[in-house]
Amino acid sequence: MIGVRLAEDLVNLQATGPWEAGAVTEALRRTPIRFDRLDDATLGDLHAWARRLRGVFAADDVEQRAQRINALLAHGVQLVQLATHDGLPPHLHFAGQESSLVQRVRAMTAGGIAIFAVEAEAGRMGVCARPGCLRVFADTSKNGRRAYCSATCGNSHAVQRYRERQAYRASRSAPHS
Ligand SMILES: [Zn+2]
Ligand SMILES: [Zn+2]
Repeated sequence: MIGVRLAEDLVNLQATGPWEAGAVTEALRRTPIRFDRLDDATLGDLHAWARRLRGVFAADDVEQRAQRINALLAHGVQLVQLATHDGLPPHLHFAGQESSLVQRVRAMTAGGIAIFAVEAEAGRMGVCARPGCLRVFADTSKNGRRAYCSATCGNSHAVQRYRERQAYRASRSAPHS
C-alpha cells in the first residue's frame, strides 16, 4: 500500500502545493525510500511524474486507467524482486537500490498503483467529488464507496447541497409579482 499512498500524496501535493523541497521531502519521508537532499532537477522530474500519476486517478473508465498504468509501468519498472529487509513484511521492489531517487519513486508508485489496481479491479480510485477540490484518493475502505478525498470535503459538500436545496425551495415558494 506504500506505493499507492505515495502516489496519492504526490498528486495531492502537486494539486494544492507548494511544490518545494520541504513539502516533497515530507511526503517521501512517509516511505522507506532513502535519500539525502532534493536538488532542483530532481524536484522538477518528480513534479512531472506527479502530473502523470494524476492521470491514473482521473481516468474515465477501467480501460483508460489500465492504459495509463501500463504507460507508467513501462517507464517506471526496472526489475521485479521480492524483498525482505529492515523487518518489513515481504514486498515487491521495482527498481534497484542503486537507482536514482527519481527512478525509485517512479518504480514504487507505478508498481504500487498496479498492485492496488489488481486488488481493486481498477476501481476505487478517483478525484474528490466536491466541486472545486482537486485532490485524489485511493479507496482502501471496506465498502469501497469513497467519493471524497477526506471526511471534511464530504461534509462540506453535503452542507453545500443542503443549502442549494433550501435556496431552491425558497425561490419556488416566493410569491410571484
Ligand atoms: Zn523495500
Ligand atoms: Zn476534497
